[in-house]
Amino acid sequence: MADTKDYQTETWAIRGGIDRSEQGEHSELMYLTSSYLFEDAAQAAERFSGEEEGNVYSRYTNPTVKAFEERLALMEGAESCVATSSGMAAILSTCMALLQSGDHIVCSRDVFGSTTMLLNKFMAKMGVSTTYVGLTDLDAWKSACQENTKLFFLESPSNPLCEVADIPALAEIAKSAGAWLAVDNCFATPILQKPLELGADIIIHSATKYIDGQGRCLGGAVLGSKEQMAEVVGFLRSCGPCMSPFNAWVFLKGLETLGVRVRAHCENATALAEWLQAHPKVEQVFYAGLIDHPAHQLASQQMSGYGGVLSFRVRGGRDEAWKVINSTELLSLTANLGDAKTTIVHPATTTHGRISDEERAAAGITENLIRVAVGLEHIEDIKADLSLGLDRL
Ligand SMILES: *Cc1c(COP(=O)(O)O)cnc(C)c1O
Repeated sequence: MADTKDYQTETWAIRGGIDRSEQGEHSELMYLTSSYLFEDAAQAAERFSGEEEGNVYSRYTNPTVKAFEERLALMEGAESCVATSSGMAAILSTCMALLQSGDHIVCSRDVFGSTTMLLNKFMAKMGVSTTYVGLTDLDAWKSACQENTKLFFLESPSNPLCEVADIPALAEIAKSAGAWLAVDNCFATPILQKPLELGADIIIHSATKYIDGQGRCLGGAVLGSKEQMAEVVGFLRSCGPCMSPFNAWVFLKGLETLGVRVRAHCENATALAEWLQAHPKVEQVFYAGLIDHPAHQLASQQMSGYGGVLSFRVRGGRDEAWKVINSTELLSLTANLGDAKTTIVHPATTTHGRISDEERAAAGITENLIRVAVGLEHIEDIKADLSLGLDRL
């Protein structure tokens, strides 16, 4: 596969990273092996010393994992990609590989809950400090910079209120502060947003979500320059949070349908957002695809769709929100997202339950807020299921 060709993302998703064996198989092979044979003792020595390129052990390299890495790198337009055992392993590996004690991170306030725990508890213990700022408050990013700031970290669009970061502007601010900009691109996927083209230095993925797309496997990835990724690979080799070949194979097949799935998620989410907005028992809807959402214009500039996740406030408080959730018969009550199955969750008491009341209020996570990760069921069935509770409020 000539990876110098100028194919579109959807084509790389299907054709990128294929390295066929002599058997001529059409589909990607799954190499379920922990180690590899050497022809003789001299070759073993050369492989171990790195004089000869080639497989040694699947904590270092595996052909199926490599195919996934190459495919995702082509889709994101990255020089290099490193697959990891989960999205959190991708963030941990990035921090461990690129930062050291005494360094400082500026991070958007409403990142994934475990990311906050990783930074506050474990990176802090290693001497890496973090300042949190509002995703859209450019002045706050600027004034949070210190002499030792090494990394900007953000998610866009944000969870669950669909705020959107001005990635090119933040890339400029990061650059003048001498920091790298890392974007967690899990919600947008390379189908909707290309952070590197927008000026970011590093991309983080939780492959667990849309890349799998059917809620089966955990995995993640870090993408960036060859130089940066060599450091990340070094961490994986010695410390082990690498992707299993089985999961890599599932993700390879997931990527093949990512384009059509993500567009269908967006279509269903847009229809649901518009329907909710017109519902008398709904107070407010948060979806960047809606013209009156504050992020609509920016999202239209830097994304080619608005994603599959939306949230809304029902009229009332926790009781009313819980009633809507408990009345559903079709939707799955779970915090996962990016699945063909639509999921529904009450952020204030689950995903955002561990933060303080003040932090929750500041983040806009009110008691009457419900998040829906819109799946691929027929839109009329999704609406009807939400009506069961909404119409009884
Ligand atoms: C789920 C998620 C993660 C963590 O990924 P895991 O695969 O669950 O470890 C990180 N960032 C975002 C935005 C996520 O949704």
